Amino acid sequence: MGKITIAIDGYSSTGKSTIAKDLASALNYVYVDTGAMYRAITLFALDNKCIVDDKINLEKLIGLLPKAKLKFQFNKELDYSQMYLNGENVEQEIRSMRVSKLVSKIAIIPEVREKLVSMQREMGRNKGIVMDGRDIGTVVFPDAEFKIFMTASPDIRASRRYKELISKGENVTYEEVLKNVRERDYIDSNRASSPLMQAEDAIEFDNSDMGIQEQFERIHHYALKVIEKQKKNA
Ligand code: C5P
Repeated sequence: MGKITIAIDGYSSTGKSTIAKDLASALNYVYVDTGAMYRAITLFALDNKCIVDDKINLEKLIGLLPKAKLKFQFNKELDYSQMYLNGENVEQEIRSMRVSKLVSKIAIIPEVREKLVSMQREMGRNKGIVMDGRDIGTVVFPDAEFKIFMTASPDIRASRRYKELISKGENVTYEEVLKNVRERDYIDSNRASSPLMQAEDAIEFDNSDMGIQEQFERIHHYALKVIEKQKKNA
């Protein structure tokens, strides 16, 4: 009773997933990282040679799509769900630069979006969910009771992402990460199918100069207010 749907959209590397994960945990809601789903399909396309020399073989990928079985499995120790592709834990591989460089090109494909959006709607059928992505408040759950649109400057986002990748042992340069952040912003915002944009009723949240704790407290506070209102109206 009184559970709501929370949609968190925004540019890449704005820290959406950290906030979404913490918020879901505090509210005892389910957390869904939709970027992980687009990343897993990209890995699937690479593994099945649907991308050769950065060129996508659309026909082949669309034909094979029904064979891509995605599943989130909750990891108790880590306290979050990890992505499994056809039974294999791919959490680490989907975060690599190899996948990051191609994912926005795969996310353009309407058949890919159709498959993933329908899975996402199914996951959120009973509310009590925090979902992050690019089109959650606009396309997946336009009726979500609480919508946030996260932004931060490209330099700040690239430097956060660079530190994260280096800490995981990836061999990348800051310039390479910044280029990838800018490219994904451009493709995500300009694609024909469900482009990244702020929903009219979303709260814009610029976290360029804000630490994680402060962001969490503010968003958690808002969410509790919306949930309270929802309960009163029920
Ligand atoms: O959130 P993350 O950076 O992991 O997402 C990876 C990519 O997946 C994005 O740059 C975007 O191209 C795509 N994506 C999308 N729609 C979503 C989530 C992610 O198009 N709902």
